[in-house]
Amino acid sequence: MNRQPLKILFVTSEVYPLIKTGGLADVSSGLPLALNASGHDVRIIIPAYKTALKNAGRTKIKLKTVGDSSIRLLEGKLPNSQVPIWFVDSPELYYRNGGPYGASNGIDWPDNAERFNTFNQVAYQIAANKLELDWQPDIVHCNDWQAGLVPAYLSIEKQRPATIFTIHNLAYLGLFPKQTFGQLSLNKKWWNYDKLEFHNNFSFLKGGLVYSDFINTVSPTYARQILTSEFGYGMEGLLAYRQNRLSGILNGIDEEHWNPETDKLITQNYNYETLSNKSQNKQALQKHFKLPVDAEKPIIGVIGRMVEQKGFDLIQNILPSIMQHNVQVVMLGSGDSLLETSLLSCMHQYPYNISIEIGYNESLAHLIEAGSDMFLMPSRFEPCGLNQFYSLKYGTVPIVNNTGGLADSVVDTYAETIENQTATGFKLFDATPEALLSAITRALTTFNSRDDWNQIIRNGMRQDFSWTSSAQHYVSLYHDAIKCQG
Ligand code: ADP
Repeated sequence: MNRQPLKILFVTSEVYPLIKTGGLADVSSGLPLALNASGHDVRIIIPAYKTALKNAGRTKIKLKTVGDSSIRLLEGKLPNSQVPIWFVDSPELYYRNGGPYGASNGIDWPDNAERFNTFNQVAYQIAANKLELDWQPDIVHCNDWQAGLVPAYLSIEKQRPATIFTIHNLAYLGLFPKQTFGQLSLNKKWWNYDKLEFHNNFSFLKGGLVYSDFINTVSPTYARQILTSEFGYGMEGLLAYRQNRLSGILNGIDEEHWNPETDKLITQNYNYETLSNKSQNKQALQKHFKLPVDAEKPIIGVIGRMVEQKGFDLIQNILPSIMQHNVQVVMLGSGDSLLETSLLSCMHQYPYNISIEIGYNESLAHLIEAGSDMFLMPSRFEPCGLNQFYSLKYGTVPIVNNTGGLADSVVDTYAETIENQTATGFKLFDATPEALLSAITRALTTFNSRDDWNQIIRNGMRQDFSWTSSAQHYVSLYHDAIKCQG
């Protein structure tokens, strides 16, 4: 089998630690780092957002102009690594206060189609070797709708690299109206239902689904689920048509950053053998959230975007019922303002048991993972999810809905899985308040059987979630794409 080092252009709209809104950023550093460690020449390309440039530190000018435009290409390094990052620098499009997709009030930038089309055009020109960079990739790995037009642009080239399109979340189709299609002067042939057109709009994501050599998503279960109308967001027919080019590869985690043995953001480090040290994190967590310090009381942690997808409405629904169990609940996140308000009103009702912090706080997220006993993820759908991996690694037992990557990474607890030492968490099999309550009740009952509980914790902690094995699956996929290309 040919296992030569590959040249890979990794096209993404966010990368940790430069700019992050969700799991895509974590994948966009974890996977390139693992590929680089195994000898591949991987280069990341992102828009030169103000925040990203600030966090990147030193950059140099790689290209003074891209073609005859006023766009520059800057080059930096992924912090603490040798992985090059190219920044598409167009200040009027990317150099703004706010997030990568919208202003700080949460409203999308009105020119997102132009912003990401420009980004895609530059990535395409590099991939097609049009910019005299003396470097052409073998593989262009495009991620989510923000990179969806790259495979479409490349499809017209005779000599082109192979393309992979990864779906991190199919809920975001990158939809824009017909008028925008005209304004961007996109290829008129693309205005067709079997190309980019989607119910009289057009979808960036469809560019990736139609034109890439291979499509993958971030867990085997989600790869199957998106073939159904329940999870397919209208793309299920197209995905079924391309099913022989569709697969699922579970994400890994950055084990340097998320490791209870070395984590600098938690109060006390611990591992499999020094599990009792976890209690100091629990105490720190209770203090941080101004809850009574009590080593015996189970704490349930929750972190995430407060949106319906993540099941925060289900959590809100069952909070009063679980209060009967004498537990503490700590929550960190932000999102839907109605959900935020109703969760906060629960907190005011039970000030000694529920504490919520609205906002984004990386170090508090680490302390919640380290200090909680259980971690709740009742997502309605979850392409992969990351927090269940962190929870397993930190000896914090996950309670998850059996969907997507959660289904693939957590083993439910019942007599047989306790007996054969494979149980790692608790699952609900229906995204309803009743099912959630029943899973939490099972977890709380098992919490009191200390031997079983400690066994479940250890089963989770001893698993390997490093990127190394996921990266090997990607390399195989890259080789398949090179073989089948064209
Ligand atoms: P998604 O990408 O759908 O938001 P994931 O579970 O794949 O969900 O990844 C979310 C990532 O963002 C995790 O690393 C999680 O810890 C982090 N995260 C989400 N919300 C917050 C928050 N409010 N504060 C700190 N980290 C957060």
